[in-house]
Amino acid sequence: MSRTARLAVFLSAFIFLGYAPAALADGETAPTRDPKQPVDEPYTAKLHKYTTESFFTSPLVDYLPASKTVPTPEVVLGDVAGAPGILPYAEDVYHYMRLLEKASPRVKVFSIGTTEEGREMIAVALSSEGNLKNLDANTERLAKLGDPRSIKFDDSEADKLVAQAVPVYYITGTIHSPETGAPTALMELAYRLAVDESPYIREIRDGMITLITPVVEVDGRDRMVDIYKWHLAHPKDFYPPLIYWGKYVAHDNNRDAMGVTLKLTQNVLNTYVSWHAQVLHDLHESVPYLYDNTVGDGPYNAWVDPLLVDEWQMIGSRNVADMTKFGMPGVFAHGDFDTWSPGYLMFVAAMHNGISRLYETFGNGGADTRERTLEPDEYSRTWYRANPPLPKALWSQRDNNNYEETGLLTSLHYFNENKRLFLKNFYLKSKRSIRKPAAEGPAAYVFPADDPRASVQADLLRIMLRQHVEISRATVAFQVALPPKKEKKSAKPQAAEEKNKTPQPTTRDFPRGSYVIRMDQPYSRIADALLDYQYWSPDDPQQTPYDDTGWTFGELFGVQVARVTDPQVLTVAMERVTELPSFGGATGDGTLFAIDNHAEPALATLRYQLKTASIEATEEPFQVGAQKFSRGTFLIKGVSRGDIDAATKNLRLHAAALSAAPSVNTHPVRAARIAFLHTWTGTQTEGWWRLALDELKIPYDYISTQKINTIPDLNAQYDVILFPPVGWNSSPATIIQGLPLAWGNPLPWQDTPLTPNLVGKNDSTPDMRPGLGWDGVAKLQNFVEKGGVLLTTADTSQFALSIGMASGVAASPSEKMKIVGAIVGTRLVDATSPIAYGYEEKVSTYCDNGPIFSLNSVLGSRRRRLGPETTVRATGRGTKDDPDFVVGRTAAEAPEKPEADLWESPPVTDEQKFNNPRVIPQADRARVILRYADSKELLISGLVIGGNEIAQHPAVLDVPKGAGHVILFSINPIYRGETENTYSLVLNTVLNFDSLNAGKKTPEK
Ligand SMILES: [Zn+2]
Repeated sequence: MSRTARLAVFLSAFIFLGYAPAALADGETAPTRDPKQPVDEPYTAKLHKYTTESFFTSPLVDYLPASKTVPTPEVVLGDVAGAPGILPYAEDVYHYMRLLEKASPRVKVFSIGTTEEGREMIAVALSSEGNLKNLDANTERLAKLGDPRSIKFDDSEADKLVAQAVPVYYITGTIHSPETGAPTALMELAYRLAVDESPYIREIRDGMITLITPVVEVDGRDRMVDIYKWHLAHPKDFYPPLIYWGKYVAHDNNRDAMGVTLKLTQNVLNTYVSWHAQVLHDLHESVPYLYDNTVGDGPYNAWVDPLLVDEWQMIGSRNVADMTKFGMPGVFAHGDFDTWSPGYLMFVAAMHNGISRLYETFGNGGADTRERTLEPDEYSRTWYRANPPLPKALWSQRDNNNYEETGLLTSLHYFNENKRLFLKNFYLKSKRSIRKPAAEGPAAYVFPADDPRASVQADLLRIMLRQHVEISRATVAFQVALPPKKEKKSAKPQAAEEKNKTPQPTTRDFPRGSYVIRMDQPYSRIADALLDYQYWSPDDPQQTPYDDTGWTFGELFGVQVARVTDPQVLTVAMERVTELPSFGGATGDGTLFAIDNHAEPALATLRYQLKTASIEATEEPFQVGAQKFSRGTFLIKGVSRGDIDAATKNLRLHAAALSAAPSVNTHPVRAARIAFLHTWTGTQTEGWWRLALDELKIPYDYISTQKINTIPDLNAQYDVILFPPVGWNSSPATIIQGLPLAWGNPLPWQDTPLTPNLVGKNDSTPDMRPGLGWDGVAKLQNFVEKGGVLLTTADTSQFALSIGMASGVAASPSEKMKIVGAIVGTRLVDATSPIAYGYEEKVSTYCDNGPIFSLNSVLGSRRRRLGPETTVRATGRGTKDDPDFVVGRTAAEAPEKPEADLWESPPVTDEQKFNNPRVIPQADRARVILRYADSKELLISGLVIGGNEIAQHPAVLDVPKGAGHVILFSINPIYRGETENTYSLVLNTVLNFDSLNAGKKTPEK
């Protein structure tokens, strides 16, 4: 640092110190109102009226300053924020924010995008008039701090920027629709920040920019308000549970910060990044009374900068201290939440050099005032909760709003007091992200240009772009050094065979055009976190992971991702890619086009798109000249070259024109008519399936279990019924019976004048309670018997088994097994099945304690098959492998037992064959498509305990039944936009629905 630069830093720091001497005398500004500013008396009186205990509020929010020009939330709500019985629609909230904007130069409203159903999302900036006037210049300063390359890593320049910049603190509300308090709290908070002249609030307003998205899940908010209005109109009735939040998913909308598939994540992420904000603070309501769960519990995500961990602790403990001083009970910062998964919305900040924060306050799921009784683990005094919540209390939405606003205001104030430190940290974290290759590695992740699954590679790269990760493309072929393999230390002398083993390669070559994700970029953390492997120790003190434990995207997408530690990779000639180039199209001459099959979901899109084309799948691999085609290759006829060229370019597929058809067996690939089946008890897990099919433009009818019964002939309308996992409330009994009808009232899910937003483009019913019913069960069985295909997963597979849809398949409960949202290895068992088309022998899959399937050849057996290691000889003479000796006679050789692998149907023994009508005919036995890997190879990423219980057992089964098939999945193939590797297991079933027996070995008699 030069001398003048040093002086400048000293001076700027001095000037800053001089600005607020009162704040720094004892480090605090009193959180009291300005006695010179009049109070809005009627509003304040209502605040007191709706607060149920004097200690459920604070000096920051127990009054509302009056303004002659700026309207209070009352003008829109008809009452104060948090008043009983009042929940505003998103539109009302926006209307108020725009009234504020009109009335005050301290408020600016920005539109930040729309939802899946077309509703607007907004961000409201609150700051001094001067700060808002200079937004662009300020954003430029923050951008420089966020990308130290732009100032050539000049720390003194950074210090100047730190001294001048105004930080941005981004608050997001109501991502979870039944957590209803945030919008009114944020309306009132916005008013306070615009109007209040107390020194405490003024400091926040002058010192920083508060950015607010009052409603994150806008579609879900409007549904929730509908439901609440229905409840007010029918106060004595049960009201319908909020079965849909957003168009696709419910609670999981807060698990999308990795895949970024939902609009709300995209909009918040883009806002966060474009404002170069320092904090993302997300509001939730499920724990009494205020739990800053950012601090939570371990294990912490291993990719975040340790500086961030310190920031969590600083802000969190100060937050607790401030609110405890106000006398507010139940404020704490540790508890049941591990910060391992980066899937939460707040992690947008943690993975982009900012600070992630999350509050759980206490909501009533609506605006009723209710007596709330807590569980002992909620009100107990613990080391981290010295002033716990009350075991029982009357609780109002206003109480909740008081906690939310007080927590936020104390956070904002503390952040502002220490903003130079946090801005400097923002710079340091950004710098450390860029210095990653030298400091910790790796240097880059490389996506090879010759990956056979190019369209899936493009999809994964697109997620990286959505994450604002910089992607480059090598303009030359290049080579990197591989890290040396660690020598295993062994006491034993090296065996001869060890010595003669072929040496490990020391370099790897990549073709020109390979994609390089450099780790010397500001957002290296998110790329590293998504592409690296995860290991959760079975001995971790945290025995109940909060969410998924593994997510390695290269594995879940089935795309090659090379973690390169050789820093030379950064010197390779490459250029930035901001848009993925299109590729693919038709080559060669001829009217028959072949598209090789690498289990790319785009193949299914193509089938549905080329409606009139004849498409066949080859049942064997073949070769034309030097070009090899795998089993399942599409042979397309009856489409013009122009059309096929356009379609394949659009989908990033390669079509090769052939002069003659290859001489292999083929069968038609058809655009099956799909019914997508859902229950009225849970729609979230299947929502990810709908989203995937919609993105792939694969049409389906979305029907409920109730509808099945009303369709006269299922086979006349559908070829395939997809019944994806239900998630919550998914026992076979609930699927069939639904909710109790003997009491209560109908629970309508319909658009009415009172509830105009419920249905959207999803489904409706006059009463959510009835389930599939026994007639529906018979209909499903009949559908399959007559040739239909029913595909089930995890809990719906359990359902299919429980109604006798799959002879000889048992699903046993696990004993000690814990596979918590992890990536596990599976192996292809029958590559000739069309379901397996395009897959290699090893398939990485997402598993969350999937059911343990066992096959049996005799009806009635329901036990989990145990491995061969479990058969051992009795205690006796000789060695472990000797037969048993009995004194006085020669040793009897045991008859050889017919053997079968653990995933197969065991051969029928001679004893079983004798007069046994229960033996299942060979032709009716399940065909194993995929099985779980052996115990030692099961874990790929995340946590696996007791994996031996499921190791080698079937993971995907094709069970013949009558003329049709039941396809049972133990893994979940379509999940959170993260598992594209396994989408084609479902899509292959769909496209080959009437040829699933292709390649099946003829059963022995
Ligand atoms: Zn929540």
